[in-house]
Amino acid sequence: MSTMKHNPPNPEQLAINAATVRESCNMRQTVDALRRHRIGGISPWRDKVAEAGLKDSAKMIRDAGLTVTGYCRAGLFPARDRKGRQQALDENMRAIEEAATLGAQCLVIVAGGLPKGSKDLIGAREMVRDGLGEILDHARGCGVPLALEPLHPMQCADRACVNTLRQALDLCDELDSSKGGALGVAVDVYHVWWDPELKAQIERAGEKRILGFHICDWLVPTADLIFDRGMMGDGVIDIPMIRSWVEAAGYRGMHEAEIFSAKNWWKRDVDEVLVTCKMRHESVC
Ligand code: ZN
Repeated sequence: MSTMKHNPPNPEQLAINAATVRESCNMRQTVDALRRHRIGGISPWRDKVAEAGLKDSAKMIRDAGLTVTGYCRAGLFPARDRKGRQQALDENMRAIEEAATLGAQCLVIVAGGLPKGSKDLIGAREMVRDGLGEILDHARGCGVPLALEPLHPMQCADRACVNTLRQALDLCDELDSSKGGALGVAVDVYHVWWDPELKAQIERAGEKRILGFHICDWLVPTADLIFDRGMMGDGVIDIPMIRSWVEAAGYRGMHEAEIFSAKNWWKRDVDEVLVTCKMRHESVC
């Protein structure tokens, strides 16, 4: 099947997760660079938006005509005590409102890992379910779908105890049974490419549940659990195949390049990074 040919992606479907250029660009510089390279989508992060100001960020993005493919990020529900859990919920409520102001297509949710000192993984996962349940109505009211992003199991302890698409979709079905689109998933090839159930779970998710599609590559060897993602084409992920699956499921949204790369791409000039993203998007995605 790996020899199967896929149609090249529409270049207009490329979006950039702002983390890809986070070391070289503030909000203004990111937006300007995207315009310069005629890239039509952005997924901004809360810290950079706060730094530039929420309203100003929204205006910059609007004026540039950019689609906001996602807003990064919220979630991180598990905490040691009630107070910590409440703080997380409050933070999520604020993130939902910011996402609405920015006109984001979804708010990206990273579940959160084990509270410090805890070994109670089952309990942490219950806190994630309960936390999502607590914020879902507010998200619905604000018109901001929540995109739960399963993270690779290597990040289970410290970032996200939701690790497979099946697990994320089970939560969607439990909490949003109407399939109304208030709760869905972000499919990030870096986190899910290894999963033997990937194709079946993408089919199960369908158009309503797939709220985002994130691209980068898995390097061999990988030097860092978080900050060593590869540029599309430099690793072992069959991105066109996974794209064909999300498209077959009905996904028509953008392809968001999200590359955390402390020792390589973060050190490069923004123009070089974006030119490379565009070329690789057309040639290997
Ligand atoms: Zn992602």
